[in-house]
Amino acid sequence: MQIFQKVEGIRSALHEAQLKGKKIGFVPTMGNLHQGHLELIKLAQKTNDIVVCSIFVNGLQFGLHEDWDQYPRTFEEDCKKLADVSCDMLFHPDENQMYPNGLDSQTRVICSSMTDYLCGASRPGHFEGVTTVVSKLLNIIKPHELVLGRKDYQQMAILYRMIEDLCFPVRIIEAEIHREVDGLAMSSRNVYLSALERQNASQLYKSLSWVAGKIRLGDRNFIALEKEAADQIKKAGFQPDYISICNSRTLEMATIDDCDIAVLGAMYSSAARLIDNISLH
Ligand code: AMP
Repeated sequence: MQIFQKVEGIRSALHEAQLKGKKIGFVPTMGNLHQGHLELIKLAQKTNDIVVCSIFVNGLQFGLHEDWDQYPRTFEEDCKKLADVSCDMLFHPDENQMYPNGLDSQTRVICSSMTDYLCGASRPGHFEGVTTVVSKLLNIIKPHELVLGRKDYQQMAILYRMIEDLCFPVRIIEAEIHREVDGLAMSSRNVYLSALERQNASQLYKSLSWVAGKIRLGDRNFIALEKEAADQIKKAGFQPDYISICNSRTLEMATIDDCDIAVLGAMYSSAARLIDNISLH
């Protein structure tokens, strides 16, 4: 696997590949890679000649009191995992490469819908940081396919919109959520869970599944379902942030005749904020 730290280095390597007509798949990450990330690489390999992964813990998408400084950075292990699945290229820029004029004076990309509710409500500015860094990465890598995990459902929906609105010539490929045996969605932030919290953390998935099951059986009392699921999470010892039954595309509150529904949830443990979701058709 080739590793690049500089924008110019990866650009010229990819330029050569593009001249040869190679198809490029791109998997952006913040590192501390787990099996879920590696499944994205494998998915990208199915339809692309060259797969590029990026590892960049993007300061622009973290709030002042969030975990940017503690976010687990495991570069050596990540490189080994990527090499084991035959990833072709890794882009690992530092902040100076990505934000040469400083974070504060960085030109921003703002998606004018879907960013201030659900996760956006408790993480103001987060999605602006995501759309800005992903725009930059797309301009650097120029991939044909961008592989995203459904785990970050709202992020994916916003990136669909950004790509359409700004005419980025890239196609999004969606990857299923990869879970631990008990159903907990794999996440780099699961390392923040205490042993006791880890035992109960699959409650978020269990409650989302309970809501999805009720909707499948015809229950359309969405507000009551959201409330009951939040109560289940409280009883398991976590603080629910939101449980929301949404239209899959707009992420607005679902109406009773919506056919494509996403049930999204977020909860706090003592040191982590975990998210998950289930789609229903
Ligand atoms: P992150 O490193 O957490 O920013 O995630 C990088 C990419 O991996 C995003 O597209 C995530 O949605 C995806 N991802 C993270 N965890 C999972 C998972 N458990 N299953 C599927 N995709 C995931």
